[in-house]
Order: sequence, then C-alpha cells, then structure tokens
Amino acid sequence: MSTVLIIGAGGVGRVVAHKCAQLPDVFSGIWLASRNISKCEQIASEIDREIFIAQIDADNLEALIMLIQRIQPKLVIHVALPYQDLTIMDACLATGVDYLDTANYEPLHKAKFAYKWQWAYQDRFQKAGRMALLGSGFDPGVTNVFCAYAQKHFFDTIESIDILDANAGDHGHPFATNFNPEINIREVTANGRFWEEGEWKETAPLSIKNTFDFPVIGPKDVYLMYHEELESLIQNINGLKRIRFWMTFSEQYLTHLKVLENVGMTRIDPVLYEGKEMIPLQFLKAVLPDPASLGEHTKGKTCIGCIISGKKEGADKTIYIYNICDHEACFEEVNSQAISYTTGVPAMIGAKQMLSGKWKQTGVWNIEQLDPDSFMNDLNKFGLPWQVVELDKHPDF
Ligand code: NDP
Repeated sequence: MSTVLIIGAGGVGRVVAHKCAQLPDVFSGIWLASRNISKCEQIASEIDREIFIAQIDADNLEALIMLIQRIQPKLVIHVALPYQDLTIMDACLATGVDYLDTANYEPLHKAKFAYKWQWAYQDRFQKAGRMALLGSGFDPGVTNVFCAYAQKHFFDTIESIDILDANAGDHGHPFATNFNPEINIREVTANGRFWEEGEWKETAPLSIKNTFDFPVIGPKDVYLMYHEELESLIQNINGLKRIRFWMTFSEQYLTHLKVLENVGMTRIDPVLYEGKEMIPLQFLKAVLPDPASLGEHTKGKTCIGCIISGKKEGADKTIYIYNICDHEACFEEVNSQAISYTTGVPAMIGAKQMLSGKWKQTGVWNIEQLDPDSFMNDLNKFGLPWQVVELDKHPDF
C-alpha cells in the first residue's frame, strides 16, 4: 500500500494515472502534479477513483521539496520532460523518496541527451538508501527488458541487437508528433549513431534507410537513429558487437520536417522577434496538435521490438521479441493513443516492481539491470502482451 506522486499531466501522465488507478492494492494513494493544474483536473475527472492534484513547476527545487514533504509519497513517477530529471532527482534525495522516469536528462539549450548526468547520482542514491529507476517507458524501457529477458532465457552471448519501432497509426493531421513535439523533433533531427565492434559510428540525420516487413502492420521504411537505450545496453548485455535503433517515418512526416528545418523552425537557439527572444522549436510546439489530443482520431497499430542474435550452446540463434498495440483500443481504455499508452503502462509496471519489493534496490539503475521476469509477466497482464518468434537469421541490412 503506497502513495505515488506522478509529475507531468501530459499524454504519458494521463496513462500512468489511469493505470495506477486500476491497481488500488499497489497504488493506494495517487497524486498528479503538473505545471498546468487544469490538465490534472481533466485527467482526474476521467478516473473513477480519487486522484489528488497539485500545481508544480518541477524546475523549482524548493517548491518540489515542499510538495513531496506534504504528500509523503513512496515514489515519484516523473513523466514531465527530460529537462526536469536532475531537479526531481535532487528533490527525491532531499526528501528520501524513490524516483522513476522514462527519458534521460537533456539540457534545455543543447539537444544532447545522455545518461552521464544521471549516472553521476549513483553514490548519492546509494548513500541515501534510495533507488532511481531510469528509462521505464517503452523505448527506453520495454526494449531494454526484452534484451535482459533474451539474455536470461535464450542466449549464452548476444552479439547483435536491432531495435525496431514502427508506428502505423494515422491521426488524420498533415503533421503532428505522437509525443512531446519539442523532445520528438530534437531527437529526430539529431545525428544518427550506432555501436559496432567497440565504437560509436555517427551518421547524418535519417540518412540510413531500410525496409522491414513488420508482423501485422506489414512492410515499412525504417530509418537509423540514435536512441538513449543504446548507451546503457552496450554496458549491460554480454558480448554485444553491434546495436542499432530504427524508427518508421512516413514520407509526409519527413517532407514536413525537412521544410520546417529548412525554414529554421526546428532551431533551439533564441531568435529576436519583435524585440523579444523566442525559441522557434518552442513556438512550433505551441502551434502543433497537442499529442494528448490525438487519441480520439488515431487509428492503426504500433509494433515495437528487438531482433536479437547470438549464440546458445555453440549454435547461432536469432529471435524477435515484440509488442503490437492498437491505438483505438488504447483510447477506449484510457483516452489516449498508443504512443502514450506504450510509455505509461511500463512506467506503472516499473513502479509496481519497486513498490512491491521485487526491484527494491539502492542507487541508480537502468531497467535492464533488474530481473526481467516479473516485469514481462506484468506486460502481458496489463495491456502490452508480447510475442517471441525464432528467425532463420538476422535481417541483412
Ligand atoms: P507532454 O508534453 O504531453 O507532457 C508533458 C507534461 O509535463 C505536460 O503536462 C507539461 O505541462 C508538464 N511539464 C513540462 N514542464 C514542466 C515543469 N517544469 N513542471 C511541471 N510540469 C511540467 O509529453 P508526453 O506525455 O508525450 O511525454 C512525457 C515524457 O515521456 C517525456 O519526457 C518524453 O520524453 C517521455 N517519453 C518516453 C517514451 C519512452 O518510450 N521511453 C516515449 C514517449 C515519451 P504543461 O502542459 O503545463 O506544459
């Protein structure tokens, strides 16, 4: 029986609140706090159980500490933005509370996410006897757990991993992003990067393209990108020689993105407009559809998973572990599209492992460092069932 504080009442926060509310035995009290309290009110009004709400600017450490002291949660589930990771970790340390997030820290003025800032909290969390669980969304999150599960049950050594993230959903807008537009566009316009034979290899943004025939949704173009789970998986998976991350984009999305880039709308440095400084990407976010509003009209499915090759008892082996998620089914359950759903459900499941004691640790942990079995069972129980199939060989792209 534990109270949790969810910070961030966006698309993902809505799903976390709904899913925690479905498990009163684990989440006995639920607080939802965000910068804009009307979003908390809206989400609380959708849920058939009392959700306590609060206004918070999570960039303000003092205010955060006061809020956590007042509520006394066992765990803070941070699903606001990556810019707040360190402030919320500081507040958890100051108040003696555990921490969970779904995205690693990224400085506001530099699109360069990395784990180094959060890994630097290792000693402080250990000394405080508290746990920080990093990356409990889908990717990072479930994809990391798929790799840990494969390592535990299917392989002696893993040599190659390709993470493939496909969204075949259609939201009916000419251009929109499925999660926070600012974070999404910063990620997509960055250089690609993959790890091979002990070193990082960098590529121009979206310059490497292949086609993959996904289960259920069929063939799609996939583009090589850098994604944060690569950084921790190269440390935690035995024998790894190569790891890459691929995402699908439609021609329409890419054409819009190119134009926005070419005209300067994806810039994150301030420009002067009518005597005031403004950041083009933040303005763009304000005029794009709110991802939380896309659910009602989004149709189609996502397929996210890992193709993993390696050796078992001396023989070559390749498996594909994946989940299929349906946008409309998600909306029916929690008023949200599948991208927020596939992030919010694993955040709830990670929180459940921590609160139930299954993952009780001290220090800073990436999710693949913990035993995957109970988390994998819970994915099947709570809305993200997965499949494992054996493939003849690793795709040759
Ligand atoms: P949204 O933009 O929909 O929601 C973010 C929420 O955080 C908004 O309600 C916003 O409030 C609030 N917020 C922003 N800044 C602050 C602040 N300083 N203090 C308090 N609240 C704040 O984003 P999503 O829900 O789509 O994404 C949430 C997180 O999930 C992001 O970090 C994203 O990177 C991560 N994510 C992870 C994925 C994974 O698989 N691991 C996949 C998708 C997302 P306001 O509306 O008032 O601005």
